[in-house]
Amino acid sequence: PSAPASDASESGSSRRTPGAAAPSGSRFTGRVAVVTGGASGIGAATAVRLAAEGAAVVVSDVDADHGEQVAEGIRAKGGSAVFVRADVAEAADWDRVLAAAHGFGPVGVLSSSAYACEIAPAHAMTRASWEHQLAVNLTGTFLGFKAVLPDLRAHRGAVVLTSSVHAHTGIPGRPAYAASKGALVSLCGQLAVEYGPEVRVNAVLPGPVLTPAWGDVGAADRARSVAGTAAGRFGAPEEVAAAIAFLAADEASYITGTSLTVDGGWSVVKESA
Ligand code: NAD
Repeated sequence: PSAPASDASESGSSRRTPGAAAPSGSRFTGRVAVVTGGASGIGAATAVRLAAEGAAVVVSDVDADHGEQVAEGIRAKGGSAVFVRADVAEAADWDRVLAAAHGFGPVGVLSSSAYACEIAPAHAMTRASWEHQLAVNLTGTFLGFKAVLPDLRAHRGAVVLTSSVHAHTGIPGRPAYAASKGALVSLCGQLAVEYGPEVRVNAVLPGPVLTPAWGDVGAADRARSVAGTAAGRFGAPEEVAAAIAFLAADEASYITGTSLTVDGGWSVVKESA
């Protein structure tokens, strides 16, 4: 990833980031996990976390350079990982992801973090831009789910979708992004109902989490976002990965169709303002 993945202390807080250090464990020993958007940010942290807990991980992304680095980093620590260059919105690419996964075994965990966000108000957003964002964020998630569903059904698998606090909260200039994130919450519930006995489907809704996605955001906007949290700082991608790992693990066996907000209290600060 092109930016430090866990420098959540920006904004002057020197507090250490709880959960940033992924413990090694065994919750996913013998499981195969597919992580989309795995080359960067939350997806990369999720791939590292699941591997540290025993999963064999398929790191999937359109960014081959950083994706290979993430997989190589996992292997260097004794974990199992392979990178597959794949666009989540291309159904044919999912065949290659699945083939790579089957080199390890049937898929038991799907974590989808790949996304597109193009900033423009609705009146200035082209239809092509709108459709691209929906294709990556929503259709890409649907295609990934369909691709791994036979494995998940056969092995009581778990899916964790990455939505956003903006599923429920307005933000200027991101109508397609926010609409797609809202749709993912709805999709999460629908899939949980449809495949309930066999597959658990949950979502995380991150708030401001310092990843390369914030690269173009200016200091004033960053400070405003941090000031909007109860935690008083950015989240680290590892803190979202910890929540994803929890929802994917057997200890969350009675949790399905749920959205877990991971935002340092951003949503409740908004509500109390
Ligand atoms: P990031 O930019 O660090 O990583 C996103 C990754 O997705 C990149 O590696 C990119 O190459 C990949 N990607 C983009 N299009 C793709 C495609 N078509 N197919 C496959 N891969 C593709 O972003 P991040 O901040 O880690 O965000 C991860 C998820 O978390 C996203 O779904 C985002 O909406 C969500 N989220 C992030 C924040 C935040 O503050 N960082 C807040 C709310 C929600």
